[in-house]
Order: sequence, then structure tokens, then C-alpha cells
Amino acid sequence: MSDLLTTEALTSEQIISITRQHNYGTWRIQKTWKPMHVVDAEGCYFIDAAGKRYLDFSSQLMCVNLGHKNPKVIESIAEQARELPYIAPGYACTSRAKLTQKLLELLPEGLEKFFFATSGTEANEAAFKIARMYTGKTKIISRYRSYHGSTTSSISSTGDPRRWAMEPSGKAPGHIFAPETNCYKCPIGHTYPSCNVACADYIEHMIQNESDVAAIIVEPIVGTNGVLIPPPEYMPRLKAICEKHGVLMIADEVMTGWGRTGKWFCVDHWGVKPDILVTAKGITSAYVPLGLCATTRKIADYFEEHYFAHGHTYEAHPMTLGPAVATIEEMERLKLVERAAALEPYVREKLTALKDKHPSIGDVRGMGLFWAVELVKNRETKEPFNSMRDKIDGTPLVVDQVAAKMMGMGVAQQAWVSHFVIAPPLIVTEAELDKGIGAMDEALAIADALVE
Ligand code: PLP
Repeated sequence: MSDLLTTEALTSEQIISITRQHNYGTWRIQKTWKPMHVVDAEGCYFIDAAGKRYLDFSSQLMCVNLGHKNPKVIESIAEQARELPYIAPGYACTSRAKLTQKLLELLPEGLEKFFFATSGTEANEAAFKIARMYTGKTKIISRYRSYHGSTTSSISSTGDPRRWAMEPSGKAPGHIFAPETNCYKCPIGHTYPSCNVACADYIEHMIQNESDVAAIIVEPIVGTNGVLIPPPEYMPRLKAICEKHGVLMIADEVMTGWGRTGKWFCVDHWGVKPDILVTAKGITSAYVPLGLCATTRKIADYFEEHYFAHGHTYEAHPMTLGPAVATIEEMERLKLVERAAALEPYVREKLTALKDKHPSIGDVRGMGLFWAVELVKNRETKEPFNSMRDKIDGTPLVVDQVAAKMMGMGVAQQAWVSHFVIAPPLIVTEAELDKGIGAMDEALAIADALVE
């Protein structure tokens, strides 16, 4: 203990040791946490204390869309700090108005009133409260393969097993689950297109048989849980069902927003206009913590005469708003949304070739620069190497072994249960894509050897 309290310059080992012993490593059994000491980052790379460079093939947590250390965004942080580092949310300030103008220009049509939070989690909590206050109803439908955040309501609407630790007593009431859309492994046993998108109709059945449904929340393309892309009819059908039954649609674009899928927002692929859109991450390329909950004018109008019972000290924090404007301006200048769309065929071709070569790959799927490579023990049965239960129990996962091998080769790759999420910064070059996919190609020998 005492050697960690030295006032001398800290060694890398001491920095790791202090972090490891006195900070929580999130979403894990603590003894498995061995944090790397990162000292720098630039463009698509970050650098450890030994000077080794890592290609950031998942943009950290699918959030550094602009790449690391963009000079214009860094300057905007300094500028905002010089101009007005904090003012309470009850006041207007210039960066808030400028960001609002940008959002009105870029968000799907109809989303006109904004609540600024400091994370995707907080923005979803705001969305649930707004939906409940506006409709006077309680229930929120979400889907099993989903992640919506870590606090009480957002974790209660999360379908994946990160919710389990809160059950039964810590789960907020009023959150119910529908099957996800997964055309590779349909949870209700259908095959597209003969299914006629039964997974959407199932949700109508739920609404008809549940009283009191305020909203449904969906990731338009499911992120962490496997880049699950719905068939083209799904989102428009779901919106029509919502309208028919007076249920609000909340689009959780925390991960899919800001160009990741080749459009500014993922719902733009299908022309769907949600009642509420939630986003975070790429809005500032994660340089500063900002979440956004955007609602229609109709919802906004309700609160002209009714108490808006929500707020935070750090709501609309100026230090997050100025940098968001700079991030969006940089995305426009560098044409990164167009770039994500243009690189899609290149990634598709490379990953399809990878699948042809490796028996451990069951499926590759994606849009823009947002892709999953799903591993299976057996292509016929589609049985994964590991289950959600393995993840929670701390059983070593095959995907983690492959990712560790890639890390050794200087490529940082996010892995989850039995798939990888490939989501490099949108400034990535074809050569960098080759490097990342090349490392996966080599590391997949580990999984191939385990195929049954
Ligand atoms: N919603 C989705 C779809 C996410 O992917 C995430 C985080 O990964 C969240 C919500 C929560 O966002 P945050 O981690 O900023 O609280």
C-alpha cells in the first residue's frame, strides 16, 4: 500500500497497481482485470507505456468516431473552458444554441426539442420519464438482445444479462421484453422473408395483451449484442404499430448515431421518424461526456402546460456542448458519413472472404463501418462457443482468446460472448482495415481449432 502513496513520479507498474487495487473494473469479475496503461492516442491508434501502438478497431467503446486527438475538437474544449466552463441549465448560452441549430439540421425530421444529459444511460432515463409523463402510462417494451444503460430503468430495459445482477429486487417495474430481430438465428424460429417479419407482429400482440404500454425502445441496429440488422420492413412496420396503438417509439441511437452506419442516424436508412431519439458517444466522439434525448414538438408541447419533472446539475453542461458543435463540423468537413457508407463494400468483401476461409465464423453482417463477426462451434447447428451465462460467470471465452491474440499483434478488438464488433474510427483507411482484418485472420486459428 505505502509504496503506492509515493509523491515521486509514478512508474507504469504503480499506475496500473493503484488503478487495479482502488478503482472498480466495470462489467467483470475484478480479479480478471489487468488494465493497460495508455499514455497517448492519435488518429486510429492508441499507445501504451512501452510505446507500442494499437489499431483501435472498435473506436474504444464504438464511440471515437472522429479518431483520437482531433485538433479542432481539442481546441474547442479549450475555447469553451476559456469562454464559459459552467453555467446552470436554467440559463441560455451560445454553444447550447449553436448545437441546437446543428441538431435541427441533422436529426430525423420532427425531432425539435432537446434534453442534454451526460451519457447514453442518462439520456435513456430521460426518455423513459418523458414517455411516461407524456402518455400517463408505465410500461416500456424492449428486446432481449439489447443494451440501454446501467442505471435502474435503463438496466431494467436492457435485455442482455447485464440486467441479471439486479433481479429480482433491483429491477424497476414496468419493463417487459420482446424477441429481437435476428435473421441469422431467429429467436422465434422463422426464416426471412417467409416469416413476413413476424417479430414485429409479435410486438403488436404484446401491446394488445398488455395494458399501459408507454413506449417501445429499440436500437435500430442492435450494437453490442451483435450488430443485428433488421429486414427493411421491420422498422417502418414497428413505427406503424406504435402509431396504431398510441405507443411512443424511442430509437436508441447511442451507438448507431453519428455516421456509424453510413447515414447520420440509423433510422434514416428506412425513413423512420421516431417520437424520441436518444444518442451519445459519437456526438462528441467521446472526448467529453454528452448524451441527448430529442423529442417531437407534440411531446414538447405537452410540457408547455405540464411540469417537466427532470434535470441534473450537469445537464446542458457547456463543456460538452461546444465540443459537440466542433465534432459535428469536423464530421462534415471530412465527409465522414459519406466515408462510412463508401467503405461498406470494401469491408463486406474482406469479411466475406474471411468467413469463406474460417470454419469458426458463422456469420458476418454490417452496414457502414459497423460490423459483427459471429463465431460458432458448428456452422450447421449455429451453436456458439460460449453463452451469456459463461460471460457472467467469468468462464474464459473463445472470443477473448482471439481478441488477446489480436492485441498482441497491435490490434484492439471488442469481443462480446461469441462475436466481435468491428467499428473503427470513421477516418480509417483501407490499409488500416486490411491490418485489422489481417490480424483477425491470423488469430482465428485459435477458434478454428475448436470447431466441432
Ligand atoms: N444504449 C446503447 C445502444 C449503448 O450501446 C450504450 C452504451 O454502450 C448505452 C445506451 C449506454 O450509454 P452510456 O455508456 O454512455 O451510458
